[in-house]
Amino acid sequence: MSKGSKTIETINPCNGESLKTYPYQTDSEINDKLKLADTIFADWKTKSINERTELLDSLYNNLSHSKEKLSELITLEMGKPITESKAEIDKCLLLIQFYKKNAEQFLADVLIETEAHESYISYDPLGCILAVMPWNYPFWQVFRFAIPTLTAGNVALLKHASNVTGCALAIEELFLDSGFPKGAFQTLLTNHDTIEKIIGNTIVKAVTLTGSEKAGKSIAATAGKHLKKTLLELGGNNACIILKDADLDKYLDTIVKARMQNSGQSCIAAKRFLVEETIYDEFLEKFTEKIKALNYNNPLDDKTNMSCLARPDLAETLEQQVSKSIDKGAKVHYGNTRDKAYYQPTILTNISEDMDVFKEETFGPLAPIMKVKNLDEAIKLASKSSFGLGTMIFTEDYKTASKKVLDIEDGAYFINELVKSDPRLPFGGTKASGYGRELSKEGILEFVNKKTVFINK
Ligand code: NAP
Repeated sequence: MSKGSKTIETINPCNGESLKTYPYQTDSEINDKLKLADTIFADWKTKSINERTELLDSLYNNLSHSKEKLSELITLEMGKPITESKAEIDKCLLLIQFYKKNAEQFLADVLIETEAHESYISYDPLGCILAVMPWNYPFWQVFRFAIPTLTAGNVALLKHASNVTGCALAIEELFLDSGFPKGAFQTLLTNHDTIEKIIGNTIVKAVTLTGSEKAGKSIAATAGKHLKKTLLELGGNNACIILKDADLDKYLDTIVKARMQNSGQSCIAAKRFLVEETIYDEFLEKFTEKIKALNYNNPLDDKTNMSCLARPDLAETLEQQVSKSIDKGAKVHYGNTRDKAYYQPTILTNISEDMDVFKEETFGPLAPIMKVKNLDEAIKLASKSSFGLGTMIFTEDYKTASKKVLDIEDGAYFINELVKSDPRLPFGGTKASGYGRELSKEGILEFVNKKTVFINK
């Protein structure tokens, strides 16, 4: 989509073929959507939680019946291997089940004993919530916002990443087909300027953004000007620590997945490998073998596990970060070729803290590997990041590793597991990775008015 254009064109990043062109919605169409959201909210908020979660059953069925078709749409629009698109839909199904089972309990009034006849917390919906979402998990990111937020009685407006506009419209259709009232979940097709204006509209009560630090700063500044709550899920630069006693036979596949899943385009991916010196050579050799064996092929083929990046400019940015780091002394151990949106899985060694691949988020299949003396040095380096999404560590001495919880400044610390999202656990970051939490009970309570009710007889 070019600046100033009135249409959005989606393009298959793996072959450059145009998929579809969508017209922007007009100002008047967008105003109608805002008004409809407001009208529907007045009724939707009066429904019992049970009435709302009942619709989750039909949403579950519709999503599960359309899994093949929607997985293909994800792969065509943003390029990820089809098996990963299917896994993304499966994860959305788990999320639906999770909130279907737990929402009533999460949103129940909490009685608090005071001198009042009765006092309690009532979790009331806020109204219309605007979500600005990224392309890397085009269904999962939207669902993990929408399911708890709608179940809590809010209504939603989605501004999805332009390159996954087909997914955005398919999600809106799923909600409608599942019996959600027209207006409870609506997709906006528009540009950044209009989104900034919509944030100022009194109908919009809060904003959530998953995306880059730059977008987060811009959206949060606008929301701040209008005193509206924001939730930000931004980039990450997670460290993956491998200690000398790590069980590589058991965990090497997990470690490879930590960096290479979604062709490296995951906010919580392992982006800096900190490896204890006594296991460094063995790790490098075994890790490289695994990277060489990745199947880089047609993303619609079930056997493919690596693919192109979601846009050619993303591969170009990654190539530049690597090239600037090479200028500062990084060595290419494996890979580093690019063809349009395809960037070969790459391993860099001889990394120092002043390099882009250490300081910045790298969004693609790149593994910078650093040698460290011991656990303490690794933890220190792990925290040397402006981001704070998560840290993972692989060691057989989980007891010592678990004593380091307080030293980790991030939103997550995973021992002998890759940092991952799970509907049952809160998800979110610190520092430049954003604030607020999605998923679990914490997530459903982000967009509610935690109202104090105090009753004297
Ligand atoms: P992006 O460029 O920031 O875009 C994200 C979304 O924000 C898109 O819908 C984009 O719309 C929109 N946007 C950007 N600037 C805007 C503005 N000024 N006003 C209104 N909307 C704006 O990020 P991306 O490249 O799509 O996604 C990758 C980034 O997301 C990475 O940094 C990744 O780490 C992060 N991410 C974080 C999480 C998390 O949970 N923490 C999860 C996934 C991804 P257009 O497409 O129209 O530009």
